[in-house]
Amino acid sequence: MQNQAIAVGRRLDQVRYDIRGPLSRRAHELEAEGHSVLRLNIGNPGLFGFRVPQHLRDAIANALPKSEAYCHQQGLVEAREAVAAQHRRNGAAAVAERVFIGNGVSELIDLSLRALLDPGDEVLIPAPDYPLWTAATRLNGGQPVHYPCPPERAHLPDPDEIAALVTPRTKALVIINPNNPTGAVYPREILEALVAVAARHGLVLLCDEIYDSVLYDGAHFEPLAPLAGEVPCISYGGLSKVHLACGYRVGWLSVTGAARRLGDLLHALDLLASLRLCSNVTAQWAIKPALEGPNEIGALTQPGGRLHAAREAICNGVARSAFLQLVQPQGALYAFPSVDPERFPDFDDEAFALALLEHEHMILVPGSSFNIAARNHFRVTLLPEPVVLDDAFARIERELVLTAER
Ligand code: PLP
Repeated sequence: MQNQAIAVGRRLDQVRYDIRGPLSRRAHELEAEGHSVLRLNIGNPGLFGFRVPQHLRDAIANALPKSEAYCHQQGLVEAREAVAAQHRRNGAAAVAERVFIGNGVSELIDLSLRALLDPGDEVLIPAPDYPLWTAATRLNGGQPVHYPCPPERAHLPDPDEIAALVTPRTKALVIINPNNPTGAVYPREILEALVAVAARHGLVLLCDEIYDSVLYDGAHFEPLAPLAGEVPCISYGGLSKVHLACGYRVGWLSVTGAARRLGDLLHALDLLASLRLCSNVTAQWAIKPALEGPNEIGALTQPGGRLHAAREAICNGVARSAFLQLVQPQGALYAFPSVDPERFPDFDDEAFALALLEHEHMILVPGSSFNIAARNHFRVTLLPEPVVLDDAFARIERELVLTAER
């Protein structure tokens, strides 16, 4: 017995998060051997030369003396007021008392699923998804039920298809808009239809809007909470992407909906938030200046901006390819190309990603990591300089030629 290895929790058996998974570990080994690895796997602006806006850095630096004590479990009042005010400007009936600040949206996704789920409860999640949603559902005893958002439909959900997946165990409907990994931005009619599904079946809407102002070519972002009205809705946002501050670890959620429909949800969130005392206090002082001050993301995503140019570089890389297809991303920080299934009927996205890492020292994320059955997609981030992306797509093409010859 003494020599037996410790067994980890069985609930982890079903949990995956491949964005930082085995490929990443192999990339570290290659780097340790002296190779430089081009990392297109993580949407982390700070890794690609983007700086947190100066007024947010100043806010944090000045906040140290007033950040020495724990704050309220829901977060600093000033920060929660700023989040609620932003939602109200968008037409939602948001109030600071129903806002919770967390160490990134990641923490709040886990916290809210823990508050909502009983073992076996079902959660409707887009496929492809940001895989934390599936992982956190499983970790909290729930059953993910994926609704397809395939490229043939420009990666948009079909509300009728979703309604057909509802069972008596369905608890919540997850919406990621703008979407990671596909870059789809959902039109108002679809969001209204999704709200109607939630209203009809008594579901909670969980709307991940962390990319709400990362938009290209005039795409219009429609916040869900104002459309949801009385339907229970949790909207998530944060500093990581729009404000280029991943490392500050700041996210928030805002609960809306008729009080009689929310039941004990706010108490449950409050209890879980108290168990971890509060989120990083210093970082919370950046929220108000972020939401009320100037924002660089608009300039970066417009023609002439670096993210716009990066997206063009990816689209051009796909257009030059003999094998690739892409639904142009309308928002967020990624592209989700696919290889032509007729040219590669047996394509194995994981094997391809590994071969690309070994041969070209470049890391991307296989599409199946985003909980889709198809094996012919991959995700790249559009954060690198456009010339780096030109080179990346040349490397991808070389590896595709090799794969085609095999
Ligand atoms: N939601 C989506 C859709 C994301 O893409 C990410 C990070 O990439 C997160 C949530 C988590 O963000 P954070 O924990 O940095 O706030």
